Amino acid sequence: MSRPELLARLAQAQAERSQAGLLRRLRRVDEADGVHIVVAGRRLLSFASNDYLGLAQHPRVREALVQAAARWGVGATAAHLLGGHRAGHEELEAALANWTGRERALLFSSGYVANIGVLGALLGADDLCVQDKLNHACLIDGARLSGAVLKRYVHNDVASAQRQLESAPGAAALLATDGVFSMDGDVAPLRELAALCREQGALLHVDDAHGLGVLGPDGAGSLAEAGLDQDAAPVLMATLGKALGTAGAFVAGSAALIDGLVQFARSHIYTTASPPALAAATRVALDIARFESWRRERLRTLIAHLRHGAQQRGLHLLASRTPIQPLLVGASEDALRWANGLEARGCYVPAIRPPTVAAGKARLRITLSALHTESQVEQLLDALAQVAA
Ligand SMILES: *Cc1c(COP(=O)(O)O)cnc(C)c1O
Repeated sequence: MSRPELLARLAQAQAERSQAGLLRRLRRVDEADGVHIVVAGRRLLSFASNDYLGLAQHPRVREALVQAAARWGVGATAAHLLGGHRAGHEELEAALANWTGRERALLFSSGYVANIGVLGALLGADDLCVQDKLNHACLIDGARLSGAVLKRYVHNDVASAQRQLESAPGAAALLATDGVFSMDGDVAPLRELAALCREQGALLHVDDAHGLGVLGPDGAGSLAEAGLDQDAAPVLMATLGKALGTAGAFVAGSAALIDGLVQFARSHIYTTASPPALAAATRVALDIARFESWRRERLRTLIAHLRHGAQQRGLHLLASRTPIQPLLVGASEDALRWANGLEARGCYVPAIRPPTVAAGKARLRITLSALHTESQVEQLLDALAQVAA
C-alpha cells in the first residue's frame, strides 16, 4: 500500500516556506511589564500588542481575577449548558449587551470559535456568505465549515459586495465584515454595508475585535460610532482579548439570535465554559474601558503624534485612524530586515508577511497603547527612520 505520508508532506511544506523566507517563528517572552517585554534577555519597547487601552495588567483587573479565583477556583468544570454557566458569565453577558446597546449577549471562549459558531448556526449549504477580501481568517473558516457558498468582495468596496450578493438573488445571504481590519487598521463602510444588506435582504455580521473599546461613544465600538443599532446590524461579534485586555469573545444581538445560538452554535455548546474568574476580571475591565475615556483620548493623541512624525520622516503609514498603524514595506525580506533592525534598536514590531497578507504587501504592524508615551513613539520613529534609510 503506498499512500502519501502526511508528516513528510508537512515537513516538505515547511521546507518550502523556509526557502521562500516565510518561516514563522515562535518567540518566547520572559517578562511583560506594560509596554515592555523581555525577549532573549533583552528588554524591548513593544509596539505589537492589542492591549490598546492598557488593561491587561491593570491592578483592578488582576485583583478581580485573583478574588474570583479564590471563590470559584480555576476551571468552569463543564460546558455552559451542563453546569459550567456561572453567575459571573451571566453578569458579564448582561454588561456586554448593555454596553453595545443590544438585547442580549453570549460568551465564547475565543473570537475564532465565536465566528465559527455563529456562521455555522446561521448558514447551511446553498446559502450565500459574502465577505470582504481582507476579513479575518476565522470568518473565512467559519463560512467554509458552514458549507455555504463563499464569495469575497474587493476590500471595503460596497459595489463589489452588491455584485456578489446579486450573483445569487434567491439564496439566503449573510454579509460578514471586520469592523476594523486587523492587519490594515482601516474601518469598514458600515453604514453603506448596512443599507446594502437591508436592500438585499441579507444579514449583516460585524466582527468588531479591534473596534470595541476603541471606537464610538464610551468605546462601544465601530457600530456605535456608525450609529447602527441592533436592527441595522443584527449580528455583532467582538473579542475580549484585545482592548479589554483579558480573553474570550461574545456575540450580541436580539434575544432571538442569542436563543438560537444557545441551541445551534456548536462551538459554544461542545466546549468547556471559560474560567469564571476570567469573566469577573473582564467585567471590571469593561467598566474601565467604558468609563475611562481618557484612555481613548490618549490613543488619539499618540496616533496623531505617530502619523505626524512618520510624515516628517518620509515614512508611509497606511491610511488608518485606529491604534493599528501599519507601515507598508512590500517585500517579505525587507519587512523582516526592518523588524530585525528595529529590534536591534530596542523596539519590537512584528513583520507581517504572506500568507497573512497578500504577496508584495508585507508590512510592519505597529500598534499603539494608551500606556505608550510620546517619547516612546519618538524612539520608534527614530528607529524606523534609521532602518528605512
Ligand atoms: C483577533 C481576532 C479574532 C480572533 O479572536 P481571538 O479571541 O483572538 O480568537 C477574530 N476576528 C478578528 C478581526 C480578530 O482580529
